[in-house]
Amino acid sequence: MKKDKLEIYRKRRNLKESPEPVGKVHKSRGKKLLYVIQKHAARSLHYDVRLEIDGVLVSWAVPKGPSMNPQQKRLAVRTDDHPMEYAKFEGIIPEGSYGAGTVMVWDIGKYRNIKTDKQGKLVPMSECLKQGSIEVFLYGKKLEGGFAFIKTHLAGGEQWLMIKMRDEYADARLNPVSSQQESALTDRTMAEIREDEGKRTRKRKVPPCHY
Ligand code: MN
Repeated sequence: MKKDKLEIYRKRRNLKESPEPVGKVHKSRGKKLLYVIQKHAARSLHYDVRLEIDGVLVSWAVPKGPSMNPQQKRLAVRTDDHPMEYAKFEGIIPEGSYGAGTVMVWDIGKYRNIKTDKQGKLVPMSECLKQGSIEVFLYGKKLEGGFAFIKTHLAGGEQWLMIKMRDEYADARLNPVSSQQESALTDRTMAEIREDEGKRTRKRKVPPCHY
């Protein structure tokens, strides 16, 4: 039997304590796939960039968040695959739990694979992932345009770089991470999410189901 891609995700969490979704591995779908970036105020603030690949959300933690400037290469550390259901998770991971802190859906939308081989044929996402060279076009609410994810092969780990590709959407003057700080789902700030969800969890012993 094939190993469950979400095994590590589940192992690291107590999903009875945390309101994060249990989720499952989905069947792959059409050409436009799910994309999300979650702003996560854990021990240190970072942005979790996630792309649907073969029914799960393949994930990277990007400490500085994405840049629209092709010259700013952002460190992106690969983390465990998350279930598709995670894409709309916004709330608080309780104290003492893995990744404790506030989570915001900073950007959400679809993406398209644009990585082609020398013959101009599309390279499947799973192959791109293996090769450590991904090129996607994001159709987010905040981010739009081509982005590359390149594995560095440094330190033998899962260190990648997230880089804005040179296209008409690239613009060094834009800085969406600082200019667009509200949730793409609920328009809330991190402080508002903290306040709202804090109230909810204080009232109810069992955290509410999010969706
Ligand atoms: Mn995170």
